Amino acid sequence: MPEQPRPHPAAEPVLSVRDLAVSFRTADAWRPVVNNVSFDIGPRETVAIVGESGSGKSVTSLAIMRLLAKGSARIEGEVLLNGRNLLALSEERMRDVRGNDIAMIFQEPMTSLNPTFTIGRQIAETLLRHRRMSATQAKAESIELLEKVRIPNARGRIKDYPHQFSGGMRQRVMIAMALASKPQLLIADEPTTALDVTIQGQILDLIKTLQEEEDMSVLFITHDMGVVAEIAERTLVMYRGDVVESGPTEDIFHRGRQPYTRALIEAVP
Ligand code: ADP
Ligand code: MG
Repeated sequence: MPEQPRPHPAAEPVLSVRDLAVSFRTADAWRPVVNNVSFDIGPRETVAIVGESGSGKSVTSLAIMRLLAKGSARIEGEVLLNGRNLLALSEERMRDVRGNDIAMIFQEPMTSLNPTFTIGRQIAETLLRHRRMSATQAKAESIELLEKVRIPNARGRIKDYPHQFSGGMRQRVMIAMALASKPQLLIADEPTTALDVTIQGQILDLIKTLQEEEDMSVLFITHDMGVVAEIAERTLVMYRGDVVESGPTEDIFHRGRQPYTRALIEAVP
Protein backbone atom coordinates (compact mmCIF):
# COMPACT_ATOMS: atom_id res chain seq x y z
CA MET A 1 0.00 0.00 0.00
CA PRO A 2 1.37 3.42 -0.84
CA GLU A 3 1.87 5.68 2.14
CA GLN A 4 -0.68 8.51 2.40
CA PRO A 5 0.26 12.11 3.25
CA ARG A 6 -0.11 13.12 6.88
CA PRO A 7 -3.02 15.42 7.63
CA HIS A 8 -2.03 19.05 8.06
CA PRO A 9 -1.02 19.52 11.69
CA ALA A 10 -3.58 21.06 14.03
CA ALA A 11 -6.02 22.09 11.34
CA GLU A 12 -9.11 20.57 9.82
CA PRO A 13 -8.47 19.88 6.15
CA VAL A 14 -10.17 22.16 3.65
CA LEU A 15 -10.35 19.30 1.17
CA SER A 16 -10.28 15.66 2.08
CA VAL A 17 -10.36 13.14 -0.75
CA ARG A 18 -11.12 9.58 0.33
CA ASP A 19 -10.70 6.52 -1.86
CA LEU A 20 -11.59 8.39 -5.00
CA ALA A 21 -12.00 6.09 -7.99
CA VAL A 22 -13.08 6.97 -11.51
CA SER A 23 -13.97 4.70 -14.41
CA PHE A 24 -15.14 5.52 -17.91
CA ARG A 25 -17.75 3.62 -19.86
CA THR A 26 -16.47 1.64 -22.82
CA ALA A 27 -18.50 -0.50 -25.25
CA ASP A 28 -18.71 -3.46 -22.88
CA ALA A 29 -17.30 -2.46 -19.49
CA TRP A 30 -16.14 0.30 -17.15
CA ARG A 31 -12.47 1.15 -17.59
CA PRO A 32 -10.83 2.29 -14.34
CA VAL A 33 -8.53 5.29 -14.81
CA VAL A 34 -8.18 6.53 -11.21
CA ASN A 35 -7.92 4.14 -8.27
CA ASN A 36 -8.20 4.79 -4.54
CA VAL A 37 -6.78 8.28 -4.39
CA SER A 38 -6.77 9.74 -0.86
CA PHE A 39 -5.26 12.99 0.37
CA ASP A 40 -5.96 16.06 2.49
CA ILE A 41 -5.24 19.72 1.85
CA GLY A 42 -5.01 21.96 4.88
CA PRO A 43 -5.70 25.68 5.06
CA ARG A 44 -3.18 27.68 2.99
CA GLU A 45 -1.43 24.48 1.99
CA THR A 46 -0.31 23.45 -1.49
CA VAL A 47 -0.49 19.82 -2.44
CA ALA A 48 0.83 18.69 -5.82
CA ILE A 49 -0.21 15.77 -7.96
CA VAL A 50 2.58 14.86 -10.33
CA GLY A 51 2.72 12.16 -12.99
CA GLU A 52 3.29 11.58 -16.66
CA SER A 53 0.64 12.33 -19.25
CA GLY A 54 -2.34 9.98 -18.99
CA SER A 55 -1.77 9.03 -15.36
CA GLY A 56 -5.16 10.36 -14.21
CA LYS A 57 -4.29 13.79 -12.79
CA SER A 58 -6.85 15.80 -14.74
CA VAL A 59 -9.54 13.18 -14.28
CA THR A 60 -8.92 13.37 -10.51
CA SER A 61 -9.41 17.15 -10.51
CA LEU A 62 -12.46 16.96 -12.79
CA ALA A 63 -13.98 14.34 -10.50
CA ILE A 64 -13.40 16.61 -7.48
CA MET A 65 -15.23 19.38 -9.34
CA ARG A 66 -17.85 16.92 -10.65
CA LEU A 67 -17.16 18.04 -14.18
CA LEU A 68 -17.22 14.57 -15.74
CA ALA A 69 -20.33 13.62 -17.72
CA LYS A 70 -22.59 11.45 -15.56
CA GLY A 71 -23.44 8.85 -18.18
CA SER A 72 -19.86 8.16 -19.18
CA ALA A 73 -17.99 8.43 -15.88
CA ARG A 74 -18.48 6.59 -12.62
CA ILE A 75 -17.06 8.25 -9.51
CA GLU A 76 -16.67 6.45 -6.19
CA GLY A 77 -15.34 7.54 -2.81
CA GLU A 78 -15.73 10.83 -1.00
CA VAL A 79 -14.68 14.41 -1.74
CA LEU A 80 -15.13 16.36 1.48
CA LEU A 81 -14.97 20.14 1.34
CA ASN A 82 -14.96 21.39 4.93
CA GLY A 83 -16.41 18.03 5.84
CA ARG A 84 -19.26 18.15 3.31
CA ASN A 85 -19.26 15.40 0.66
CA LEU A 86 -19.41 17.06 -2.75
CA LEU A 87 -20.26 13.77 -4.45
CA ALA A 88 -23.56 13.72 -2.54
CA LEU A 89 -24.68 17.26 -3.40
CA SER A 90 -27.42 18.13 -5.87
CA GLU A 91 -26.24 19.54 -9.20
CA GLU A 92 -27.55 22.93 -8.15
CA ARG A 93 -25.62 22.98 -4.87
CA MET A 94 -22.55 21.78 -6.73
CA ARG A 95 -22.82 24.77 -9.06
CA ASP A 96 -22.66 27.01 -5.99
CA VAL A 97 -19.52 25.22 -4.84
CA ARG A 98 -17.93 25.74 -8.26
CA GLY A 99 -18.95 29.38 -8.23
CA ASN A 100 -17.94 30.21 -4.68
CA ASP A 101 -15.66 27.73 -2.98
CA ILE A 102 -13.37 26.11 -5.54
CA ALA A 103 -11.86 27.79 -8.59
CA MET A 104 -9.95 26.09 -11.36
CA ILE A 105 -7.32 27.21 -13.85
CA PHE A 106 -6.03 25.20 -16.80
CA GLN A 107 -3.09 24.91 -19.15
CA GLU A 108 -4.59 26.91 -22.00
CA PRO A 109 -6.16 30.16 -20.81
CA MET A 110 -7.30 30.95 -24.36
CA THR A 111 -9.87 28.15 -24.30
CA SER A 112 -11.54 29.61 -21.21
CA LEU A 113 -11.58 33.22 -22.41
CA ASN A 114 -14.08 34.62 -24.88
CA PRO A 115 -12.05 36.14 -27.75
CA THR A 116 -14.83 38.60 -28.61
CA PHE A 117 -15.15 40.28 -25.19
CA THR A 118 -12.69 42.60 -23.48
CA ILE A 119 -10.84 41.30 -20.44
CA GLY A 120 -12.57 43.94 -18.30
CA ARG A 121 -15.99 42.73 -19.38
CA GLN A 122 -15.13 39.07 -18.72
CA ILE A 123 -13.81 39.75 -15.24
CA ALA A 124 -16.74 42.02 -14.42
CA GLU A 125 -19.19 39.34 -15.56
CA THR A 126 -17.46 36.80 -13.35
CA LEU A 127 -17.73 39.20 -10.42
CA LEU A 128 -21.39 39.94 -11.06
CA ARG A 129 -22.14 36.24 -11.24
CA HIS A 130 -20.66 35.71 -7.80
CA ARG A 131 -21.43 38.84 -5.91
CA ARG A 132 -24.10 41.51 -5.76
CA MET A 133 -22.58 44.80 -6.91
CA SER A 134 -23.12 47.60 -9.41
CA ALA A 135 -21.49 47.67 -12.84
CA THR A 136 -19.30 50.55 -11.66
CA GLN A 137 -18.16 48.58 -8.63
CA ALA A 138 -17.50 45.54 -10.83
CA LYS A 139 -15.30 47.64 -13.11
CA ALA A 140 -13.33 49.05 -10.19
CA GLU A 141 -12.91 45.61 -8.72
CA SER A 142 -11.82 44.16 -12.10
CA ILE A 143 -8.98 46.67 -12.13
CA GLU A 144 -8.07 45.73 -8.56
CA LEU A 145 -8.02 42.05 -9.49
CA LEU A 146 -5.72 42.71 -12.45
CA GLU A 147 -3.45 44.71 -10.17
CA LYS A 148 -3.51 41.86 -7.68
CA VAL A 149 -2.13 39.49 -10.34
CA ARG A 150 0.49 42.11 -11.22
CA ILE A 151 -0.67 43.03 -14.71
CA PRO A 152 1.04 46.31 -15.54
CA ASN A 153 -1.27 49.23 -16.39
CA ALA A 154 -4.36 47.32 -15.26
CA ARG A 155 -6.63 50.34 -15.70
CA GLY A 156 -5.67 50.67 -19.36
CA ARG A 157 -5.68 46.95 -20.09
CA ILE A 158 -9.30 46.21 -19.16
CA LYS A 159 -10.25 47.43 -22.64
CA ASP A 160 -7.99 44.89 -24.34
CA TYR A 161 -9.06 41.56 -25.85
CA PRO A 162 -7.52 38.20 -24.89
CA HIS A 163 -5.32 37.97 -28.01
CA GLN A 164 -3.64 41.25 -27.03
CA PHE A 165 -2.11 39.55 -23.99
CA SER A 166 0.93 37.25 -23.98
CA GLY A 167 0.51 33.66 -22.75
CA GLY A 168 1.83 34.53 -19.30
CA MET A 169 -0.39 37.59 -19.03
CA ARG A 170 -3.42 35.55 -20.13
CA GLN A 171 -2.71 33.07 -17.36
CA ARG A 172 -2.59 36.02 -14.94
CA VAL A 173 -6.01 37.09 -16.22
CA MET A 174 -7.33 33.57 -15.59
CA ILE A 175 -5.95 33.69 -12.07
CA ALA A 176 -7.64 37.06 -11.55
CA MET A 177 -10.94 35.52 -12.67
CA ALA A 178 -10.38 32.58 -10.35
CA LEU A 179 -9.85 34.97 -7.45
CA ALA A 180 -13.07 36.86 -8.24
CA SER A 181 -15.11 34.44 -6.14
CA LYS A 182 -12.59 34.49 -3.26
CA PRO A 183 -12.29 30.68 -3.36
CA GLN A 184 -11.03 28.63 -0.45
CA LEU A 185 -9.36 26.23 -2.84
CA LEU A 186 -7.68 26.78 -6.20
CA ILE A 187 -7.18 23.79 -8.46
CA ALA A 188 -4.45 24.53 -10.99
CA ASP A 189 -4.15 21.90 -13.74
CA GLU A 190 -0.80 22.37 -15.52
CA PRO A 191 -1.18 26.17 -15.45
CA THR A 192 2.43 26.78 -16.47
CA THR A 193 2.97 23.95 -18.93
CA ALA A 194 2.41 26.07 -22.05
CA LEU A 195 4.68 28.88 -20.81
CA ASP A 196 8.41 29.29 -21.22
CA VAL A 197 10.61 28.79 -18.21
CA THR A 198 11.04 32.40 -17.05
CA ILE A 199 7.31 33.11 -17.26
CA GLN A 200 6.61 29.77 -15.59
CA GLY A 201 8.66 30.88 -12.58
CA GLN A 202 6.80 34.18 -12.41
CA ILE A 203 3.41 32.48 -12.41
CA LEU A 204 4.51 30.05 -9.69
CA ASP A 205 5.74 32.97 -7.59
CA LEU A 206 2.44 34.74 -8.15
CA ILE A 207 0.40 31.72 -7.06
CA LYS A 208 2.55 31.37 -3.94
CA THR A 209 2.15 35.05 -3.05
CA LEU A 210 -1.59 35.08 -3.68
CA GLN A 211 -2.06 31.96 -1.66
CA GLU A 212 -0.79 33.82 1.40
CA GLU A 213 -2.54 37.08 0.62
CA GLU A 214 -5.85 35.39 -0.13
CA ASP A 215 -5.73 32.63 2.44
CA MET A 216 -6.19 29.95 -0.19
CA SER A 217 -5.38 26.28 -0.42
CA VAL A 218 -4.01 24.99 -3.72
CA LEU A 219 -4.15 21.66 -5.52
CA PHE A 220 -1.41 21.94 -8.12
CA ILE A 221 -1.27 19.45 -10.98
CA THR A 222 1.80 19.06 -13.14
CA HIS A 223 3.92 16.51 -15.00
CA ASP A 224 7.06 18.39 -13.97
CA MET A 225 8.86 17.43 -10.77
CA GLY A 226 10.88 20.67 -10.94
CA VAL A 227 7.66 22.67 -10.58
CA VAL A 228 6.58 20.53 -7.64
CA ALA A 229 9.78 21.42 -5.76
CA GLU A 230 8.98 25.11 -6.26
CA ILE A 231 5.42 25.08 -5.09
CA ALA A 232 4.18 22.15 -3.03
CA GLU A 233 4.57 21.24 0.61
CA ARG A 234 3.24 17.77 -0.03
CA THR A 235 3.17 15.70 -3.17
CA LEU A 236 1.35 12.71 -4.57
CA VAL A 237 2.95 10.82 -7.41
CA MET A 238 0.44 9.18 -9.76
CA TYR A 239 1.26 6.43 -12.19
CA ARG A 240 -1.37 4.81 -14.41
CA GLY A 241 -4.24 5.82 -12.16
CA ASP A 242 -2.61 4.88 -8.85
CA VAL A 243 -0.95 7.01 -6.21
CA VAL A 244 2.42 5.25 -6.07
CA GLU A 245 4.01 7.58 -3.55
CA SER A 246 3.03 10.51 -1.36
CA GLY A 247 4.35 12.63 1.47
CA PRO A 248 6.21 15.87 2.16
CA THR A 249 7.78 17.06 -1.10
CA GLU A 250 11.28 16.99 0.40
CA ASP A 251 10.90 13.36 1.37
CA ILE A 252 9.72 12.47 -2.11
CA PHE A 253 12.82 14.12 -3.54
CA HIS A 254 15.28 12.61 -1.09
CA ARG A 255 13.74 9.34 -0.19
CA GLY A 256 11.33 8.64 -3.05
CA ARG A 257 11.38 4.88 -3.35
CA GLN A 258 9.38 4.05 -6.43
CA PRO A 259 11.41 3.64 -9.60
CA TYR A 260 8.83 5.80 -11.35
CA THR A 261 9.37 8.63 -8.83
CA ARG A 262 13.14 8.38 -9.27
CA ALA A 263 12.70 8.62 -13.05
CA LEU A 264 10.55 11.75 -12.63
CA ILE A 265 13.16 13.35 -10.38
CA GLU A 266 15.99 12.48 -12.76
CA ALA A 267 14.04 14.13 -15.60
CA VAL A 268 14.35 17.52 -13.82
CA PRO A 269 16.97 19.55 -15.69
P1 ADP B 1 -3.34 13.32 -17.11
O1 ADP B 1 -2.58 12.72 -15.97
O2 ADP B 1 -2.46 13.53 -18.30
O3 ADP B 1 -4.08 14.55 -16.74
P2 ADP B 1 -5.97 12.28 -17.61
O4 ADP B 1 -6.49 12.37 -16.23
O5 ADP B 1 -6.38 13.34 -18.55
O6 ADP B 1 -4.38 12.20 -17.56
O7 ADP B 1 -6.37 10.90 -18.26
C1 ADP B 1 -6.27 9.66 -17.58
C2 ADP B 1 -6.81 8.56 -18.48
O8 ADP B 1 -8.21 8.71 -18.63
C3 ADP B 1 -6.22 8.57 -19.88
O9 ADP B 1 -6.03 7.24 -20.28
C4 ADP B 1 -7.31 9.23 -20.71
O10 ADP B 1 -7.27 8.80 -22.02
C5 ADP B 1 -8.57 8.78 -20.00
N1 ADP B 1 -9.67 9.74 -20.12
C6 ADP B 1 -9.63 11.05 -19.76
N2 ADP B 1 -10.81 11.64 -19.97
C7 ADP B 1 -11.63 10.70 -20.48
C8 ADP B 1 -13.02 10.68 -20.91
N3 ADP B 1 -13.78 11.78 -20.82
N4 ADP B 1 -13.52 9.52 -21.36
C9 ADP B 1 -12.76 8.42 -21.42
N5 ADP B 1 -11.47 8.35 -21.05
C10 ADP B 1 -10.91 9.47 -20.58
MG1 MG C 1 -3.98 16.47 -17.59
